[in-house]
Amino acid sequence: MSQRPPDRRTKTQENSLFLHEACKALEYNDQVFELLSGASREIRVQIPLLRDDGSLEIFYGYRVQHHNALGPFKGGLRFHPSVNLAGSRRLAALMSLKSALVKVPFGGAKGGIDCDPRSLSHRELESLTRAFVEKIHRGIGPSLDIPAPDIGTNDQIMAWIQNEYSKIYGYTLGVVTGKPLLIGGSEGREEATGTGVAIVVREHARHHAEEIEGKTVVIQGFGNVGTHAAKAFHSHGMKVIAVSDSRGGVFDQSGLDIDALCSHIDAGARVSAYEGAKAITNDHLLKLSCDYLVPAALDGVIDENMAGKIRARIVVEAANSPTTYAGDKILADRGITVLPDILANAGGVIVSYFEWVQNMQQMPWKKERVIEELTEKLSWASDQVFAVATGNECRYRQAAYLIAARRLREAVAMTSN
Ligand code: NAD
Repeated sequence: MSQRPPDRRTKTQENSLFLHEACKALEYNDQVFELLSGASREIRVQIPLLRDDGSLEIFYGYRVQHHNALGPFKGGLRFHPSVNLAGSRRLAALMSLKSALVKVPFGGAKGGIDCDPRSLSHRELESLTRAFVEKIHRGIGPSLDIPAPDIGTNDQIMAWIQNEYSKIYGYTLGVVTGKPLLIGGSEGREEATGTGVAIVVREHARHHAEEIEGKTVVIQGFGNVGTHAAKAFHSHGMKVIAVSDSRGGVFDQSGLDIDALCSHIDAGARVSAYEGAKAITNDHLLKLSCDYLVPAALDGVIDENMAGKIRARIVVEAANSPTTYAGDKILADRGITVLPDILANAGGVIVSYFEWVQNMQQMPWKKERVIEELTEKLSWASDQVFAVATGNECRYRQAAYLIAARRLREAVAMTSN
């Protein structure tokens, strides 16, 4: 047992509670829990930005590197006002577990800048991104730490990072994934996470010998993950009946016209301004009766207040950490199935891995190969989770954490000195 005072420990956070349960079930001691729930390195930098109006504004950038026993650190960069050290730490640990679960040779990391990219001009966003790389370049690299897009970031931002890093180290493709196709991005990467969410849903239905055609889906968050998940569900014959962005959503019980809605979004409009369906609040959307509820926006939306009001049969965690520990217990008591984030949204890190492999080999893959290998990996990981859940009579999240924590623990043991 550790005799250290609690303030030396990583503050207990939501997924640490899930991890703590897994460590207890695996009979790991407190030192192992501390190792797996903490982070090996945390970077915080100050980034001054000269705004277009001549004023100076200070932003803070973060990169938390959780563990790299299974491969280089890997994880998203978020540009959002809520970005901070504690949140990055929590999401970095989640990335390690995710990579371990789907067996891609990466560790976990997360970070970003506490900014609202919508309030920045193109020039300001580029300067901020390049200044961030100037501050953290020693900590990232193709065999060290490989960032990727997340909330508020996209392929253009990844291109700026790749370019800024290359100015210092020479042309380096594999320093980030989620790049534009023209400069080393992978076919299928943009839609990988959303496509993967639908693959996991299909595998779950197959496992239970259920049909998914005609089943109703509600999606909160209509950004990268939400739009591509909607397209994939639609292509499987499912009915997406409601979607939303941060300002609200739209609802149609007979099924939304996803192509029309995506064209509306591509034209730069808000979801709620779409005239082909009834407007709805984000709060109401989460409480709609449906087969699948897909949170694809921010963390912690299904908390102890919301969990009792969910009327979905199955929650599919497309976002990272959308369900709090207390919320998860309520969903379990109410018999609502949860397909956990570290499985449901792992399509992103899997295709990021494929992109990195293509960059290392200087050999692009065809889209068919990307989709085929993504499907194979996610089907395999899903089967493992379903089998462990059956064998241990536990929920899917517990099963996924048991598998991932065991792999991570074994790798750390093999590489520790
Ligand atoms: P994004 O920025 O492209 O889209 C986020 C969407 O959520 C936007 O439509 C935004 O308006 C909406 N939103 C924000 N706050 C909201 C609120 N309070 N209520 C309702 N909607 C809100 O981000 P993304 O890349 O789609 O990421 C979404 C989630 O998926 C995040 O949790 C992210 O960590 C996770 N994720 C993303 C990837 C990826 O490849 N992009 C991979 C794995 C997990």
